[in-house]
Amino acid sequence: MLAHTLPRLIDRLPITRGEIKEQADLSAITWFRTGGSAEILYRPADIEDLGLFLKTLDSDIELTVLGLGSNVLIRDSGVSGVVIHLGKAFGPIEFDGNDVIAGAGALDVAVSRACRERNLSGLEFLNGIPGTVGGALRMNAGAYGREISDVLVSAQALDLSGQTHEISALDFGFSYRHTDIDPSWIFVSARFRATPANREDIDRKMAEMGINRRSSQPVQTRTGGSTFKNPPGRKAWELIDQAGCRGLTVGDAKVSEQHCNFLINLGNASASDLETLGEEVRRRVEEDSGFVLEWEIRRIGVPDEETTS
Ligand SMILES: Cc1cc2nc3c(=O)[nH]c(=O)nc-3n(C[C@H](O)[C@H](O)[C@H](O)COP(=O)(O)OP(=O)(O)OC[C@H]3O[C@@H](n4cnc5c(N)ncnc54)[C@H](O)[C@@H]3O)c2cc1C
Repeated sequence: MLAHTLPRLIDRLPITRGEIKEQADLSAITWFRTGGSAEILYRPADIEDLGLFLKTLDSDIELTVLGLGSNVLIRDSGVSGVVIHLGKAFGPIEFDGNDVIAGAGALDVAVSRACRERNLSGLEFLNGIPGTVGGALRMNAGAYGREISDVLVSAQALDLSGQTHEISALDFGFSYRHTDIDPSWIFVSARFRATPANREDIDRKMAEMGINRRSSQPVQTRTGGSTFKNPPGRKAWELIDQAGCRGLTVGDAKVSEQHCNFLINLGNASASDLETLGEEVRRRVEEDSGFVLEWEIRRIGVPDEETTS
């Protein structure tokens, strides 16, 4: 069949009540503010809409899910297939005694603050993590000595056929910034357990974490959070610093002077600049200390020939 007679992807999609956009610029929704477009961006109307979409979608079409894009680097060539973006429809936050039940599109910050309003403690650490509940589940996000695995009771996810799964926290296989849950499953909600506490203590904890974070991380910049996982027993930033990479640049991509495990986009960095810089950091760290750093940031899309690791 000649290329120009192939059906467009948009014409092969199931009917949905959600929002569909062709060639959607993903730099607009990721923290790095760079990278290419999604062939199709789909914002489901609700869980039922997403379930039906998955059930009836041709199985050869690639799927990628995004939360707030705070831990991803979208490559310049963009993402083929359908990118699913869970938005406000997946944002409700409800309470059941000391449990908080949040949609996967709810902001971590909103969950943490809703708990504070109810004098519930344990989720203060989420106040500084700039992502969604779905992204936090996938990444086992954590800060200041606590992570998702410490507070999760269970979560709900859809598989590629649109079937719903109730997953107990015990079945997540949590480890540092990792879960064993099938990478193709899409989280749609989570139940967390909090503990009653007095409001002043919660406020104090949140304030301390906020001050600490603002003084140690470039939170007001275009960044993707921690670039590399900490190798066992070591801090990635120390190894990067020791290898002389603090402040290193490639084009407009820079290793943050404030926290050298953060890469920042000074304005016009391409995804390729950021990835090339990350790879150069990995190379220098290995040469200097023998540690091979593992990317924590999820790089999505077809790799550039020159930057593959
Ligand atoms: C300034 C800054 C500070 C940060 N500080 C921290 C920190 O202290 N601790 C920490 O752990 N992280 C931190 N991060 C990283 C990031 O915020 C977390 O990893 C966050 O949990 C990612 O959530 P997200 O919604 O943005 O996910 P995205 O970045 O959109 O996606 C991350 C991964 O999760 C997957 N995903 C997203 N939603 C779903 C879903 N519904 N179902 C299945 N998979 C999904 C994506 O496919 C991707 O693989 C920081 C980032 C920034 C920019």
